Formats: sequence, C-alpha cells, structure tokens
Amino acid sequence: MTQPRPTGKTVPLLRIVGLRKSFGPVEVLRDVSLVVETGQVTCIVGPSGSGKSTLLRCLNRLEVPDGGAIYLDGLLVGVTEKNGRLYEMSPKALATQRQAMGMVFQGFHLFPHMTALENIIEAPITVKKQPREEAIRSARELLRKVGLTEKADAYPQQLSGGQQQRVAIARSLAMQPKLMLFDEPTSALDPELVGEVLAVMKQLAQEGTTMVVVTHEMSFARDVANQVVFMDGGVIVESGPPAEVLSHPRHARTRTFLARVV
Ligand code: ADP
Ligand code: MG
Repeated sequence: MTQPRPTGKTVPLLRIVGLRKSFGPVEVLRDVSLVVETGQVTCIVGPSGSGKSTLLRCLNRLEVPDGGAIYLDGLLVGVTEKNGRLYEMSPKALATQRQAMGMVFQGFHLFPHMTALENIIEAPITVKKQPREEAIRSARELLRKVGLTEKADAYPQQLSGGQQQRVAIARSLAMQPKLMLFDEPTSALDPELVGEVLAVMKQLAQEGTTMVVVTHEMSFARDVANQVVFMDGGVIVESGPPAEVLSHPRHARTRTFLARVV
C-alpha cells in the first residue's frame, strides 16, 4: 500500500535560532542556529573549546542560554528575548524539555551502587512513575538492544568502559526521549572499546532515532550523519551533508581542522 504524501511542510523536531551563551566576558556561543529533522543524525565536530558541549548543555538546560530560542516539535522550550526581555520557561516546560532529550556524556556517570538493570529502571520508575515490572521488562529489552543481556545484574565497576557506556545509552533510551544527545561518547574509551559503542549508535540511527552527536570519530560522521556541523569559536562555520563538509569543505578553518584530525 502506498503511503499518503505528507501535505505541506512538517515541523523539524529541533530548531535552534540565534542561541547565545557567555561565561563572564567570554562569548562561548554566538548566534548559533541549527535545524534537526526527525529521524536524522547530526554530528557536530570542531576544535576543543569551540562551544560544542555548551551547545548540547543549553539544549537540555544543564546551562541556561542568554538568548535565542529552542523549539522542540514546534514548541518554544528555551529562553527567548522579546522586546529586550528575557523569557523564562515554567518548571513544567523545563521538565518536559529535559525529558524529551536523553544525554550521554563522555564519562558514563552510572550510579555505582546499582546494577546495570537498576540503573536503567531508576528514572522510569521515579520520574515517569512506570510500574516496576513494566520498567524491568523494557530495561531487559534495552539491554538486549545494546548487546548486554548477560550483564543485567553486573555493577558498573564489573563492566568495561564500553559496556558502561552502552548501559548509559540504554538508561537514556529508557526515558523514551524524542532526541538523543551524545557528547563525545567514545572519547574516554580505550581504542579497542570504541567500536562497540559506535555500533550501538549506528544501529539506533538505522532505527530512526534522532541524534545529535558531538564526536571526533570522523568515519562515524561520514558513515552515519545526515548532517555534519563544523563549529569554531562559538559559531557554526559550515554545515551540510558529510560528503560536502568532510570531503569538500568550503572554509579554510574547516580544512585546517580536518587536516589535523583525519
Ligand atoms: P567544546 O565542547 O567544544 O570543547 P565547551 O563548550 O566545553 O567547548 O567550552 C567552550 C568554552 O567555554 C571554553 O573556552 C570553555 O573554557 C568555556 N566554558 C565552558 N563551560 C564553562 C563554565 N561553566 N564556566 C566558564 N567557562 C566555561
Ligand atoms: Mg566538549
């Protein structure tokens, strides 16, 4: 059966408009605008200190942006300036925004005193009030998805870095976010463990998970990203399909950066 064609334009899952953030006198994000479509993978690359983590942290409100707007599913969730006034979101809107975005960090940040399974069911039970049995069922399914069926009862210290990071990914997914944010998820791993985490992320991408990934893994960006964003000095210097940005960069700054990392 043929699917009906969508009529009109669909709203992007995430739209960032003119985002700004300073720490004291240092302007870390200057007028950052970006669109992320549902089901697409955006890889953000750029030198250390260019503002990549700050951008992700503003998205899920680990940092409060100074200005600009963040729209999730067409809904304004971030701060914006209107007539020179700063608009703050209600606590409820903030909670919704945070829940909509799962975040995976460079360090795995698992609860050390909980097993893999307990780590995964914690937020669904306490935050989403999911019944325990249901949360456990979903968690086992997620452990299977990240290839850790056998490790449900293992504590973080009994797991390798790659396994811990896969538990961390499962834990984020358990909240059923609309969007997954990854901040250099493989940078803290021994080289031989990077592949297993990237494989899980690639599988998520193939299943249609919307993802924003800050990474130095250029081969992952080339293979998996729909959109590559190059940041430098708090601005997006250029963005586009990987074949353009990574293979035929238009800007000298991008070329210099790529020459150093690839
Ligand atoms: P990246 O992730 O691209 O390496 P960051 O977003 O971590 O860059 O940092 C961008 C700049 O902002 C850096 O100069 C960093 O020192 C500064 N910065 C980040 N977080 C803070 C903070 N909480 N307080 C002060 N400066 C910060
Ligand atoms: Mg960073």
